[in-house]
Amino acid sequence: MKQYFKVDEWKIIEEGFDPSYNKVAESVFSLGNGRMGQRANFEEAYSGETLQGNYVAGVYYPDKTRVGWWKNGYPEYFAKVLNAANWIGIDVWIGDEQLDLAKWEVIDFMRELNMREGYLQRNTLVKSPKGKEIRIESTRFCSIVDDEAGAISYTVTAINFTGDIKLTPFIDGDIINADCNYGEKFWEEVKKDVGDDTGFVQLRTKKTGFEVATAMKVLLNRGGKPEEFSSKPIQKEKYIGAEITVNAVSGQPLTLYKYVVNLSSQNYKAEELADKAIAQVTRISQKYFAVMLLEQANAWVEKWKHNDIIIEGDAAAQQGIRFNIFQLNQTYTGEDDRLNIGPKGFTGEKYGGSTYWDTEAYCVPFYLATAEQKVARNLLLYRYKQLGKAIDNAKLLGFKDGAALYPMVTMDGTECHNEWEITFEEIHRNGAIAFAIFNYVRYTGDEAYLTDYGLEVLIAISRFWAQRITWSAERQQYVMLGVTGPNEYENNVNNNWYTSTIAVWCLKYTIEAIGKAKEVNQAKYKDLVTKITFREEQECEKFADIICKMYFGHDDKLGIFLQQDGYLDKEQILVKDLPASEQPLVKKWSWDRILRSIYIKQADVLQGLYFFEDNYDIDTIRRNYDFYEPRTVHESSLSPCVHAILAAKLGDIDRAYQFYLRTSRLDIDDYNDDTDDGCHITSMAGTWMAVVEGFGGMRVKDGVLSFNPLLPHQWQAFSFQVGFRGALLNVRVSGDGVTVKNLSDKEIVIKIYGSDTLIKSNSEKLTPVQVSTLE
Ligand code: BGC
Repeated sequence: MKQYFKVDEWKIIEEGFDPSYNKVAESVFSLGNGRMGQRANFEEAYSGETLQGNYVAGVYYPDKTRVGWWKNGYPEYFAKVLNAANWIGIDVWIGDEQLDLAKWEVIDFMRELNMREGYLQRNTLVKSPKGKEIRIESTRFCSIVDDEAGAISYTVTAINFTGDIKLTPFIDGDIINADCNYGEKFWEEVKKDVGDDTGFVQLRTKKTGFEVATAMKVLLNRGGKPEEFSSKPIQKEKYIGAEITVNAVSGQPLTLYKYVVNLSSQNYKAEELADKAIAQVTRISQKYFAVMLLEQANAWVEKWKHNDIIIEGDAAAQQGIRFNIFQLNQTYTGEDDRLNIGPKGFTGEKYGGSTYWDTEAYCVPFYLATAEQKVARNLLLYRYKQLGKAIDNAKLLGFKDGAALYPMVTMDGTECHNEWEITFEEIHRNGAIAFAIFNYVRYTGDEAYLTDYGLEVLIAISRFWAQRITWSAERQQYVMLGVTGPNEYENNVNNNWYTSTIAVWCLKYTIEAIGKAKEVNQAKYKDLVTKITFREEQECEKFADIICKMYFGHDDKLGIFLQQDGYLDKEQILVKDLPASEQPLVKKWSWDRILRSIYIKQADVLQGLYFFEDNYDIDTIRRNYDFYEPRTVHESSLSPCVHAILAAKLGDIDRAYQFYLRTSRLDIDDYNDDTDDGCHITSMAGTWMAVVEGFGGMRVKDGVLSFNPLLPHQWQAFSFQVGFRGALLNVRVSGDGVTVKNLSDKEIVIKIYGSDTLIKSNSEKLTPVQVSTLE
């Protein structure tokens, strides 16, 4: 863990330039707007350590999965999020010297991500090897108002000389993915053109055939006034640039404005892309940078009104949560149900930009409470639309009769993981997809979703479980063989408690949902039965039999659920007794040694206790927590948040706080030494849950929202906002009590510390803080 960035409640600030930390900074300062995003690479050339990254949502490449020992059922390809055309580029030359922070002396340097208003700024004074000093001030953003556009203001001031400076704004599509096999490039050129101040490059992806047109328009400004210029057009393979030579006067700022749009063939006809891109970039440029920036700031301020979390008295914790909320909103807006949330969002290539169970298990609750209902619904519909492929995927593995196994990693519904032995057997993801349907209906009360879409998914998933279990004649019970739980530091285990628990829960919920569907809309239910040839009586009987006769490992002496068969045979040395020099295990130990050890990568049994807490008494949760947490290394970013929520439930406010800090500052402080690859976007939703469900104790039961807040002693107060069934509530927890303000016109009855409390529209109620009542 490093404390490199300055603590500030609304900004991430880097003072001074440390090239060895550049890739981490590039991740942390990433920008995005749901449609496109980018790492914080410099506009000008940089020959030091860097990971170039510009991404266009939904554009990917299916790279052949390379495994030596091919077996039936292996995925054909691993999807890669594509590093798209570099649109931020501006080359700067003074005479024969090219600006490059890796080669020039950096006299001062400051970079700032303004999370409140959604832009990135840099101010640096540099000296060339021949002694020319210039100051660079840049501001850029991906617009959330025009979500296919970005803009840059790039000011150069000659400090100790007067003379020519050559500025070349460019678009470069001749880029490469860091994770490509054998240096292969994934884009080919369709067309390009460039004039004095406008140009575009249109590229097509190999295999998938996505086309993206990236267009730019540039304007020049000197001393606050627009300046006419002519440029030398440059064209190379997949590249256009406009070389502008300006006579710089010492001390007089020169600003280049670069407006860009990225249009994709997902949204426009390929043959119209270039014309539309030019028209759009022209329109954008006519708004002017200052206006665009103002619109951007206003739109972000408006967004924050709905989902800010305020932590009083702890600036580091405040910065942490805002960074997480900011990145989530940069990654996914819910406008487009073809899109989803890659674990690294637009901040890196790791995980291929694909969809994982992270979305359902971690992200859905965040969007449910902080965005319009359609946002979480779109995330559910994304999976609904891929049901056919999930059924095909199950078929490929030998399942039949409409059983569905959703992929662990996917872009379009097809399985595309590249780590066979780990991810393939993580069939628990099917459970998370069902759980998200339950969670959505529980939160919104939108039962029509169940009949319209949810039930079809639930039945297909339940059919899978019904075929995936094995009847053990020995035990006279059903067992679940050969799986990997959420804890990926165990592979191919039998009877992973979490997987069996979520499987049985799915079967129960499916039976319940069938009952509801029949009640709500008999005709629609009948249609579904016909569509999927559902033999209700026979299939439900099987589901019920499994529910009654499933085997769950339990150790009676310790009073805990067994993570899997044989877990207690392992050498029981706790994490606290492991030398720090041996961690993270994933970097220090062989895979064989990890698999034989007791160490748990992330919540596994505890994930189940988190999802299904109402089924267990508090002592059971405590015993399992006290047993498993000391064996957990939290080497997945998804781990600390679940532990924070459970610790808060158990009233262990100090541990909850430590886990909260770890999850919220994971990337800012580079806890796991891996932020250089990109930020952990999906776990950021877990950070939000740690505050709202952990410290706020928010739950929904039987259509009623409840709060059971605790105040960490490091905080004077904290507050958050949630939307619930038409009401908008602001909840503030301080030493004085819990104040719930109803900001909407809809009155609502909620529970505070277990008591029914009416909050009239546009009014507030204060309840004294109580010792959290554990249900
Ligand atoms: C975790 C998985 C997760 C994936 C993507 C892995 O490290 O173990 O649970 O789905 O990262 O975030």
